[in-house]
Amino acid sequence: MSRVFNFSAGPATLPEEVLEQARDELLEWNGAGTSVMEMSHRGKEFISIADKAEADLREVMAIPSDYKVLFLQGGASSQFAMVPQNLLGDKTKADYVLTGHWSKKAIKEAQRFCQVNTVADSEASKFTTIPDQDQWQMAPNAAYLHYTPNETIAGVEFSWIPQTGDVPLVADMSSTILSRPIDVSRYGIIYAGAQKNIGPAGLTVVIVRGDLIGHAAKNMPSIFDYQVQAKSGSMSNTPPTYAWYIAGLVFAWLKAMGGLKEIAAINQRKAQKLYDCIDGSGGFYRNPVDKACRSRMNIPFILRDEGLDNEFLQQAATTGLMHLKGHRSVGGMRASIYNAMPEEGVDALVQFMNKFMQLKG
Ligand SMILES: *Cc1c(COP(=O)(O)O)cnc(C)c1O
Repeated sequence: MSRVFNFSAGPATLPEEVLEQARDELLEWNGAGTSVMEMSHRGKEFISIADKAEADLREVMAIPSDYKVLFLQGGASSQFAMVPQNLLGDKTKADYVLTGHWSKKAIKEAQRFCQVNTVADSEASKFTTIPDQDQWQMAPNAAYLHYTPNETIAGVEFSWIPQTGDVPLVADMSSTILSRPIDVSRYGIIYAGAQKNIGPAGLTVVIVRGDLIGHAAKNMPSIFDYQVQAKSGSMSNTPPTYAWYIAGLVFAWLKAMGGLKEIAAINQRKAQKLYDCIDGSGGFYRNPVDKACRSRMNIPFILRDEGLDNEFLQQAATTGLMHLKGHRSVGGMRASIYNAMPEEGVDALVQFMNKFMQLKG
């Protein structure tokens, strides 16, 4: 067996210890006589797995007790619709911050349900900046403000939390959740597709403040109503049981390594090494993002000579550094270095980049 360093933006690499435990428990979980995949979601074994996953996530993120944690399906994209349909109530407007590809998609979907007020828009900079909040134009009477703390494609990350007063703050944290400690109490809703920092695709985690539950649109399909899911422990129908189990192993892995403070320090170091390599290359490699809002999770870089892109990717792949091709809207390369990317993976990438530059620069 030879596992590569996988820099994919998602589905992304998982901690090897988690995969090993899953392998050891694949045929039979904890004396239950079956695999987790084959268990009833209502049986006591799976309920214990589900409860432990939630308890560990609550502990790791220090989620206050007045918040519900939902384990849903549909991906982060389903929340683009569920958020307005659950939060608007009798309001007609919502604020959105447009800082990249994913916030744009969230806006497009929300426009099906309400009047979207775009409070700030960084598209003119090709999504390489984040407008300061003192330039934002917030609507009076908005039902909530939605933003994307980390834009996965352009590699742009907020280092601060927007101030919204009484207006609930909603965050698509798909590519930054669990990467550092955050103050959950500042948020109305945090949601994330699992396939970046949580676990396998197919699971969507929604953390929602209790008072925001119970305002769903009248004609809302019931499985999309936070209240229905909260009341049933996310089991109003069959949840994605196996993905939930793997997410639980990831939460336990994080807890055992020292939690979010520890992983944040490692993430900071990993990102710094890569940015130092890019910035120290005399322009051979370039990251186009404003330094104040560079992502710690997704790091795009462009080669001065884009004619070398394919050679870079091919040689990287033969060195075991995989899935570095950038998103077509940015070009060049992108290294996604989520929690589960070991520091050795970043070291190997930096070493390769320096060698490639010596050869071709
Ligand atoms: C990946 C991603 C999404 C899309 O997630 P799905 O689970 O595929 O719907 C949405 N927002 C952000 C910030 C992402 O990184």
